[in-house]
Amino acid sequence: MEEIKQKLLEMQKAILTDLEIGRDKSITAISGDIGDDIDHANEDRNRELYQLLCERDQDKLMQIYQALEAIDKNTYGVCEDCGEKIGKKRLIALPFTKLCIDCKSEQERTKGISRIPEKTASFTGSDTGEL
Ligand SMILES: [Zn+2]
Repeated sequence: MEEIKQKLLEMQKAILTDLEIGRDKSITAISGDIGDDIDHANEDRNRELYQLLCERDQDKLMQIYQALEAIDKNTYGVCEDCGEKIGKKRLIALPFTKLCIDCKSEQERTKGISRIPEKTASFTGSDTGEL
């Protein structure tokens, strides 16, 4: 668990570091190492940084935050769907996953299926019939 937490923190730090560097470059051309300060980033600072994140990073960061929160609440590593424990190997490979391998593949399968009827439905549905 400690191992996973460390990994999550590192991922979080990597995103924030990238961002910090990007922001630093874009706002002022301060030359100097700011890396050490990131450890002390407080919530306000995180929020400020968060607004500058691109959507993809935001998504990732959110998942990391949620995973870290789950670790604190001792709910980490439990599948959101079936409530079963997620395998440790899976957690190490995908530290912020919320679904066990079974539910994940089930979800992907369902997604793949539901996409087709949805399209079919719009063809047969009267609300989209008039074009
Ligand atoms: Zn599951």
